[in-house]
Amino acid sequence: MIGTEKLSLLGGPKAVRESHEPMFKWPIITEEDEAAALQVLRDGAMSGTNITKQFEQEFAEWLNMDYALAFNNGTNSLLGAFYGCGVGIGDEVICPSVTYWATALPAYALGASIVFAEIDPVTLCLDPNDIERHISEKTKAIVVVHYLGHPADMDPIMEIARKHNLKVIEDVSHAQGGFYKGRRVGTIGDVGAMSLMAGKSFAIGEGGIFVTNDREIYERAIALGHYERYNEEIKTPYLQPHAGLPLGGYKFRMHQISSAVGRVQLKYYDERINEIDKAMNYFWDRLEGVPGLRAHRPAPGSGSTMGGWYATHGHYVPEELGGLSVTRFCEAVRSEGVPIGPGCNLPLHLHSLQHDADVYGHGKPTIIANASRDLRQPKGSLPVSEGIAARVYSIPWFKHYEPAIIDQYVEAFRKAALQYNDLLAGDSGNPEKLGGWNFFRQKAD
Ligand SMILES: *Cc1c(COP(=O)(O)O)cnc(C)c1O
Repeated sequence: MIGTEKLSLLGGPKAVRESHEPMFKWPIITEEDEAAALQVLRDGAMSGTNITKQFEQEFAEWLNMDYALAFNNGTNSLLGAFYGCGVGIGDEVICPSVTYWATALPAYALGASIVFAEIDPVTLCLDPNDIERHISEKTKAIVVVHYLGHPADMDPIMEIARKHNLKVIEDVSHAQGGFYKGRRVGTIGDVGAMSLMAGKSFAIGEGGIFVTNDREIYERAIALGHYERYNEEIKTPYLQPHAGLPLGGYKFRMHQISSAVGRVQLKYYDERINEIDKAMNYFWDRLEGVPGLRAHRPAPGSGSTMGGWYATHGHYVPEELGGLSVTRFCEAVRSEGVPIGPGCNLPLHLHSLQHDADVYGHGKPTIIANASRDLRQPKGSLPVSEGIAARVYSIPWFKHYEPAIIDQYVEAFRKAALQYNDLLAGDSGNPEKLGGWNFFRQKAD
């Protein structure tokens, strides 16, 4: 043990010899979830709002916020948040380039443009030092993602936003329940929007939700796509006269099987992610000091946490492993019986949608359709975002604290890193495109 057995890729024994399905199964569904879902079916209440409103209230109480608004998915919770914050024609929204597309793309539907900023190479979240150079008179909001579970550095971001009178939207889809310096992520900016789809750590089916203390943001989002709640309860004066129809022509209502399951999941969520946190921290503690490998997590004792550790990743330092490519490293770990891969989300600013797609027939690219300047960002403009894929890899997402099992996975990573020298000969480097636009599809392929 401890990394000295011959690499499986080179003919040695595997570090992980059997599958550990219960370790990875998620979400945890019990008879209580099943009963809640069945009750919705038996009541014929699939399309109502009564259960959803209970879920919203409990979710808001959980995060100690005034309002929670449920959506049929996370993408639309972000669209609602953008509109809630007043994002409209010609406005610019600053967003990290490395994230899932739904963090940013809904802005186009409102006639706004996206300006991509760098990520910090350690947190992998929006770099506070790369925001101000992107601010113009048209900037309306900053979208922050607590990427791969790691809380973004909110203090300097909020300071910049206040200084320039910008709204801050937190995309909490990777980090539900996480903390930033003792405060829950999603409660620090003007609105915290998130996915609750089945692959996320807070998993209820297809669904999304946002939380805010700002009644106007809440009511604008209702007006955009919750027609059944756009009535005399809406207090914002300029919204009142148009009640009855959704202003955006959208319909955002959450399916009540999702909200019923969500109510049950919420009861156990903190307890379950605490166990994930313990398991994942154990994994990284055991790899402490192994060359080339670094944990992606906030410093212990900082008051910041990784929430449910969605889409767990690690940092890779090829310089410490004779330049071994992350692709070859992952190949060796996979051969040990651990299904992982290199890279993360591809940088959005390089996709053709951000350069030449004319989606709505403006006669020019959508990204500049209503813009007052050319916002297209060429290759080379965001070097950290463009290079990060070669320095990260996925790791197993342990749901239970079972040291004896986790140790086998630790051994796989340790073997590959400590015996990097034997892997150099067969290393043909990284492919040009490393990572994907979409984790979920990567998994299903
Ligand atoms: C999943 C995800 C979304 C979108 O949520 P859906 O529920 O899939 O619509 C938005 N932002 C991020 C960062 C995500 O990972």
